[in-house]
Amino acid sequence: MITLKEALELPKEELAALKQDLAKKAQEQKELNAYIALDEAGEGVPIAIKDNIQVDGWEVTCASKILQGYIAPYDATVIAKLKGAGLAPFGRTNMDEFAMGSSTETSYYGKTLNPKDPSRVPGGSSGGSAAAVAAGIAIAALGSDTGGSIRQPAAFCGIVGMKPTYGRVSRYGLAAYGSSLDQIGPMTQNVEDAVHLYNIIAGHDPKDSTSAPVEHTPVTPNPDRKLRIGIVPNYIKDASPAVQKAYDKAIEALKAEGHEIVEIALMDAKYDIASYYITAMAEASTNLSRYDGVRYGYRAETGNLKEMYLKTRSEGFGEEVKRRILLGTFVLSSGYYDAYYLKAQKARHLIKDEYDKAFEKVDLILSPVAPDVAFEFGAMKTPLQMYLSDAYTIGVNLAGLPAISLPVDEMDGLPVGLQLIGRAFDEQTLFDGASSLERAIRS
Ligand code: GLN
Repeated sequence: MITLKEALELPKEELAALKQDLAKKAQEQKELNAYIALDEAGEGVPIAIKDNIQVDGWEVTCASKILQGYIAPYDATVIAKLKGAGLAPFGRTNMDEFAMGSSTETSYYGKTLNPKDPSRVPGGSSGGSAAAVAAGIAIAALGSDTGGSIRQPAAFCGIVGMKPTYGRVSRYGLAAYGSSLDQIGPMTQNVEDAVHLYNIIAGHDPKDSTSAPVEHTPVTPNPDRKLRIGIVPNYIKDASPAVQKAYDKAIEALKAEGHEIVEIALMDAKYDIASYYITAMAEASTNLSRYDGVRYGYRAETGNLKEMYLKTRSEGFGEEVKRRILLGTFVLSSGYYDAYYLKAQKARHLIKDEYDKAFEKVDLILSPVAPDVAFEFGAMKTPLQMYLSDAYTIGVNLAGLPAISLPVDEMDGLPVGLQLIGRAFDEQTLFDGASSLERAIRS
């Protein structure tokens, strides 16, 4: 598959042919269910877009029944930036409903298959974006990452996925899930393309009050820079043999590139899970209150208003989304607020402090993305089991840090990805390290 960098150099006529070819291939691989819909009309290099990002005139549904028929009336800031840079939104990719999940199994449109092994999940919630890039039916894609939804599907499908620092990329036009955690980021075939997409979408946006008024200097990665890279032995002991082997391989590759490896320790990830799921569900419960049948999408037919609210939300939301609205409402309710929500915020603070301390000693941290390779459909028997599988990704969102997942190894034909985590607003160093690791792994 042609890379983003190459595609950006194609003359107009060849771009049109490329788009047709992509659409044809996407049709041939329809059973993957990576795209919800395609749109070949836009002018420019085609980019796949997760179905929770507003594209003017598109139906945008967050893969939920409740948004069926909702047409986006404006472009998200990232979409406006893509269009300004000669790129064109090409199709809506499948996802877990409202980005809640780690497997893309909760979509109203049905599950997406992992192109490396169709009996396994592509990861989630940006599973459609990851599967499309991995299957060669997208040159590159945008995803969103609230607790790992870019990095984990990237790792499961063998592509690169990057989550920027919180506040670095505008959330204007991204359907809110956990507002203090969500970030849009690139999902690409290689690090260079991730840098390119990142440079296009990053920067302060006055339309988003959570966008950081920090200057964005476009990144040019330097793979020759020597860095101190932290490794986390207390994280690795719980990972599968496949992940442990990839971790060892990455450490050797980084040493061979001349980086200094430093052992560090991070707090037991069980605190990350508790703090994240309380925070994310609390924010989700308030963010999703706007879907009431009046303003957007689906409306149940009933006689009176109160019943209409009830029926719309009962019929419109899927099971996982309802579970989270209920739990989120519970942790915010008076009497439980201090015991759960407030405590989760205190834990979040400690998690951030701990990363800050680690970054006094190291420039980057090397961490697993998931405890194992992509799992089989139905393998997670309870919601809690699924939540626990996010142990390695959610701390990054709680602390607001940038991180990038890249393919490092394979086990029985299944990709194993690892992530590098950087200091807030230091995407330059993150990409320096990632381009060095990629070079070492690919050589
Ligand atoms: N799996 C996590 C969750 O379900 C993360 C999802 C995401 O990053 N959007 O909340």
